Amino acid sequence: MKISQIDVYQVDLPYAGGTYRLSGGREYQSFDATIVKLTSDNGLTGFGESTPFGATYVAAHALGVRAGIAEMAPTILGLDPRRVDRVYDAMDSALVGHGHAKAAIDIACWDIFGKAVGMPVCDLLGGRTNQPMGVISSIYTGTPEAMRARVQAHRLQGYRGHSMKIGEDPQLDADRVMACLADRQLGEYFIVDANGGLSVETALRFLRLLPSHADIVLEAPCATWREHMSLRKRTSIPMVWDELATSDAAIAQLISDDGAEGVGLKISKNGGLTPCRRQRDMCIAAGYSLSVQDTVGSDIAFAAIAHLGQTVPANWLRCILDTRDMVSITTADATHKGGFDRRDGWVTAPSSPGLGIEPRMHVLGEPVMSFS
Ligand SMILES: [Mg+2]
Repeated sequence: MKISQIDVYQVDLPYAGGTYRLSGGREYQSFDATIVKLTSDNGLTGFGESTPFGATYVAAHALGVRAGIAEMAPTILGLDPRRVDRVYDAMDSALVGHGHAKAAIDIACWDIFGKAVGMPVCDLLGGRTNQPMGVISSIYTGTPEAMRARVQAHRLQGYRGHSMKIGEDPQLDADRVMACLADRQLGEYFIVDANGGLSVETALRFLRLLPSHADIVLEAPCATWREHMSLRKRTSIPMVWDELATSDAAIAQLISDDGAEGVGLKISKNGGLTPCRRQRDMCIAAGYSLSVQDTVGSDIAFAAIAHLGQTVPANWLRCILDTRDMVSITTADATHKGGFDRRDGWVTAPSSPGLGIEPRMHVLGEPVMSFS
């Protein structure tokens, strides 16, 4: 089997909640999605998505995804999409880094692989755990009471995990966290995510303003490795790494430095399902908790999240992110009705072959690039 055609689609995904606010004054209203369709010489098709969180979240941006795909396309035409590691080697030989551009092609290869052998991607990635996955909310910055209300709204939809964004004044951030924790229910967990927006100084001031019993995990407090490690030496607070954990090498270094208790694996940020499969195993071997997510994305990105998340045993899986919540456009449906519907905050990966999705081609429109 050979990859005989590559079609690339562009879709604007408006943020479902109006304006999303992160530390450092970053605001987002819409996300520029790139969707890849691979066609094999025996007529199978596979889809993958890469949607950066704007251009100010990690070193990734939408035009870069498409430029990267154009750079790599001649190298991957003619390769067997089922040999996912070898396709990845070929992409690496054509373009150094730029994992977010490789992700869409890589995910589409797994989709074809699954269809070719009649198995869902989660089974190819190691096997379905048969445990439903809890989804996590994404509570953007705002007043303490507004953030508390958004946590409550998600709680009523069945969410048990909440990711609260912070990263401004230490007192305001502490007030936000305590407001969000005020209505806490048994079994809920709270991640406080600064998206790299704190200095060591402001992080320490923020933590000292929290009561000692505040049960939170601190995610991505600072922008640099050195700052993270400096902060880590001075606090016992559990830490999750996200923006700085983007590659095999970074995760190996993180484990070596004893730098965290968990990692946020975001599929496009971390280069696609092929590297995420490896990074998943590294994290489990290190005893880390895992959040399986993506930077943002539509149904196609979520299908990849659901399949990877479904392979992580429950004691290591902190949560998955349902990116479908964040955008107001549907790009695909489950191949089988109800295939990955969320029920009371829980979701399972589709059981039909490949990603188990059928893209809405009228939403994808005409390709912006094609290679054959
Ligand atoms: Mg994060």
